[in-house]
Amino acid sequence: MLRRGIDLTVWEQAYPLGDTGTGLTLFPNGRRQLERMQLGYALVEVGAKIGEGSGYYRMDGTFVSRVVTTDSNGWNGIYGMHRADLLRVLTLGLPSTAIRSGHRCIGFEQSASFARLKFATGQTDTADVVIAADGIQSSLQKYVVEPSAPEYSGSRAYRGLIPKDKVPEWPKEAHLIWMGDGKHFMVYPVRSGHLLNYVGFVPTRNETIESWSATGDRDELASSFQGWDARVVGLLENVETCFWWGLYDRRPLALWTKGRLALLGDAAHAMLPHVGQGANQAIEDGVALAVFLEGRNSAEIPDALRQYEAFRRERTDTVQAEARKQGLRLDSKSGSLQQRDQEIAKSAEFRKWLYD
Ligand SMILES: Cc1cc2nc3c(=O)[nH]c(=O)nc-3n(C[C@H](O)[C@H](O)[C@H](O)COP(=O)(O)OP(=O)(O)OC[C@H]3O[C@@H](n4cnc5c(N)ncnc54)[C@H](O)[C@@H]3O)c2cc1C
Repeated sequence: MLRRGIDLTVWEQAYPLGDTGTGLTLFPNGRRQLERMQLGYALVEVGAKIGEGSGYYRMDGTFVSRVVTTDSNGWNGIYGMHRADLLRVLTLGLPSTAIRSGHRCIGFEQSASFARLKFATGQTDTADVVIAADGIQSSLQKYVVEPSAPEYSGSRAYRGLIPKDKVPEWPKEAHLIWMGDGKHFMVYPVRSGHLLNYVGFVPTRNETIESWSATGDRDELASSFQGWDARVVGLLENVETCFWWGLYDRRPLALWTKGRLALLGDAAHAMLPHVGQGANQAIEDGVALAVFLEGRNSAEIPDALRQYEAFRRERTDTVQAEARKQGLRLDSKSGSLQQRDQEIAKSAEFRKWLYD
């Protein structure tokens, strides 16, 4: 938005900007947009390329399918990123006044000619447009649609990082996924390959909160994957501490925009992490919104926001639905194992559509 001449301030509740201690995958569709902002070089510096040796396996180690690691042009745009590194790259080159951390938004109002935000610090800010990129628990979402609670998936994710030098034999670029009964486990490299990011998805009887800092039980994690492929069991022996995170999503919302207020990212389309697209879709949203807002005057904003929503909607609805379906496949709950394995192999078509 700044590059398109739009004057912008990010108001963020965290202070300082957070270091969440886990990873995420940047796929070609998200990464392409960041390359266009000249952030490609910085991403390569701190990310870890994902490529050779990536695959899906059954829990016992039986190979199921390769993981698609390129778009249709053969461009490998997949990078494992430590979240703190991605955040650092995203803030590179921004004017020091662009991000105002330590400001929790507690109120919103709008009129025909402006929008106003109120913060817990007592400060207020007035703008032509407000973009609520405030996550799955969005506090501004209620100003666009009727309030509703996120839906619990019945699973929690145990996640953390293992220094690569503890497992020197581990393949350098591999994104590996093992699928068992009601559970799945994945590993990929981050931080130039110096760390391995693992996530174990396990069913729960009780709801688990979403919190990047909730500490999980490493023994419980290890016992959840007892008897799995020796690579999984062996890797988990290296876990000292882990975090956990309850998995929630929402169904597509009736609306994303109202007047001068637009929802973006998880606030607009919270999805399960099973296709690794929440952050990638948020990046796409941001670029689309910048394109629709460029050159518009204040009176044209509500119209520009409606165009943004209409443009993005079909794609994010599809990805949100696919994330639920993929979760059932990964947890072996989508029919016979043979049928599931075929679906996993066939999901390469969806991936190409997504990445292109
Ligand atoms: C286990 C797991 C694995 C995942 N893996 C991937 C992956 O590989 N690839 C991928 O693309 N996605 C992945 N995701 C999804 C991804 O983490 C989210 O979709 C993404 O973080 C959403 O970004 P966001 O900016 O919309 O919201 P958030 O990341 O939730 O950011 C919201 C921000 O708003 C701030 N905020 C909230 N309320 C207020 C307020 N009132 N005032 C001021 N600030 C406020 C918060 O502090 C936060 O900084 C994964 C998620 C999970 C749980």
